[in-house]
Amino acid sequence: MKTKLAPGSKPLSSSFGIGQLVAAATALLVAGCILTAFQFVSLRQSLVDDVQVQAALVADNVAAPMMFRDQQTASETLRTFRPPPYLMSIMVYDRQGKQFAAFAASGAAPDEYEVARLLASGSEESLSRIVAIKPVEYRSQDLGHVIVIASTARVWSGLLRYDGLFGTAAVGALFVAALVILKTKARMAKAEARLDYLAYTDPVTELANRRATYDTLAAQIIMQEKEGRQLALLIVDLDNFKAVNDTAGHSAGDALLRMVGEILRSVVRESDVVGRIGGDEFAVVAAPVRDRVEALTIAGRMADAFGRSFDLDGQQVFATASIGISLFPDDSRTLSGLVSSADIALYHAKAAGKNRFAEFRPEMTLETQRRVRIERELRRAMECGELEVHYQPQFDCASKRIVGAEALLRWPHPEDGPISPAEFIPVAEECGLINEIGRWVLVRACSDAAAWCRATATALTVAVNVSARQLVDDGFIGHVQEALRESGLPPEQLELELTESLLMEDVDKALEFMNTVRSLGIRLSIDDFGTGYSSLAYLQSFPINQLKIDRSFIRLLPNAGYTIASAVIALARGFNLSVVAEGVEEPAQLAWLQAAGCDVVQGFLLGRPMPGLAMHALLQLEQVESRIDAAWSETAKSSPLILRESG
Ligand code: C2E
Ligand code: CA
Ligand code: CA
Repeated sequence: MKTKLAPGSKPLSSSFGIGQLVAAATALLVAGCILTAFQFVSLRQSLVDDVQVQAALVADNVAAPMMFRDQQTASETLRTFRPPPYLMSIMVYDRQGKQFAAFAASGAAPDEYEVARLLASGSEESLSRIVAIKPVEYRSQDLGHVIVIASTARVWSGLLRYDGLFGTAAVGALFVAALVILKTKARMAKAEARLDYLAYTDPVTELANRRATYDTLAAQIIMQEKEGRQLALLIVDLDNFKAVNDTAGHSAGDALLRMVGEILRSVVRESDVVGRIGGDEFAVVAAPVRDRVEALTIAGRMADAFGRSFDLDGQQVFATASIGISLFPDDSRTLSGLVSSADIALYHAKAAGKNRFAEFRPEMTLETQRRVRIERELRRAMECGELEVHYQPQFDCASKRIVGAEALLRWPHPEDGPISPAEFIPVAEECGLINEIGRWVLVRACSDAAAWCRATATALTVAVNVSARQLVDDGFIGHVQEALRESGLPPEQLELELTESLLMEDVDKALEFMNTVRSLGIRLSIDDFGTGYSSLAYLQSFPINQLKIDRSFIRLLPNAGYTIASAVIALARGFNLSVVAEGVEEPAQLAWLQAAGCDVVQGFLLGRPMPGLAMHALLQLEQVESRIDAAWSETAKSSPLILRESG
């Protein structure tokens, strides 16, 4: 997409040029005026000084002739006196004010009235001429006056020359300035275009960035509203980007992002906008769309394009994406409403197992609100000790005795009633509270199990569920050891239940974790077996003790589901693992499992999850029953003897 300026903003370079040139010209003009005025004053002053000197010279030279009233010599002196061209007339007057001698260069001598006025004023300076009057003295005797009149033409011509020169220089300077401005303007326009590009483009994928995408969305909302049409916003989030980045490296991560950009571009129209709005989050603004079906079709095309492996510089990476869809105007008429609706839908797509798309439904908002409430309430419940651990007994198929118990969290909410762990565990996982909760369950389960064992002298196994967040928590193993140490439960009586999908998320990390756990003597069990990827190759390399067939297969027994159930049992035999069947509700299911060689069973048929005290009582009861059983069989064996003795 070609990125463009934000609406309403004008490039700086477009307003740069003429204005600067006009400013420079004005500055030159002002400077020219000041310099001209200065030049005028100095030229004129030098003329005034010259005229004064000339007048003094004349006064000196005519003093002697005047002393002797020798008019002829005085006139000759004036004639031989070579006056500079700017002097218009030189006149000598005696003490009585009568002309004694005169010389007029231009032939225009002042009349007698003017002379009288000049003599009375002493001097005159006007724009056209300068008059200097000097007394003629001989030995302090006043003989008369010399009047020298000079034209200011010299000043004006000097000023004209000066201004001509200055004007030429100014025009030259302006020309150079214009050239520089033009060049700067071109450079500015280029830099601006680059900045503009950077401000609106994602540097990795070269798609529109978050700002540009939302600008487009805002503009499209206005446009489609005017035309009475609909538009779709699709937010696409990669499911396993962090894993790709961590394992394949950042350059592979960038390559994947670019590929995703290309995929998204390839499934939408040229006019639709594809942008990267976050680390691994993309948005598509499809405008206009006819209806919801068209939006879902686009999402379907996207989903089809994912879910395969991508070649990133020779590395094969499997990538899936989750997509949230919102529609204008049905889901919201505003930008923020559309974005949050698509976000909520995306959240639901993720929660439903990722690698899928979800369109926004109004109920989703309620669900999201409930989720937020659960998160808040869960923190409180944890602090107030509202959570409980219940135990579901596990029975050995052969001996029919309790051999273990699975620890299951219970949350009896004071207002809402019991909240299922299936609902609050995912919330706890997402907000990180699971580490704290999981640690607490571990401590409780270990100490309860240790107490039962002491009371009943049986080696019972307690199974604790472990979630993905706990697996990557570096302190987890330490907490397990601490729980065992504090309770005194032998490690082989603790069993950790991990799900397949959890192990497949980061196989290397999971293997490392499992090896550490096994080296401590703790048992490992794969929960919900059969619902995940079930890779046989991995199963062989995982150091596990047990498989738990998922409830969904047991539920179908004995009429269906036996293919998978018997396959899992055979698989477990092959790998020398024990098998637990969970969710046994019907006697027929139990019978089938016993016949098929299942080791352990767990389900409502044999015992629902119960509080620790109830479990304790059950174990004691079982012990009493077994003692009675044993006593009876002993009695049966010895009764003939007794009879004989009594008889
Ligand atoms: P799960 O690990 O698969 O636990 C077994 C679930 O099956 C339990 O549900 C249990 O009450 C139920 N169940 C057992 N027998 C029967 C039966 O005969 N019929 C039926 N219909 N259900 C049966 P629950 O207690 O609701 O737990 C749900 C999930 O929550 C668990 O599934 C587990 O994944 C998670 N969970 C529970 N407690 C914890 C915990 O302490 N930590 C973690 N990480 N997850 C937990
Ligand atoms: Ca479990
Ligand atoms: Ca299970």
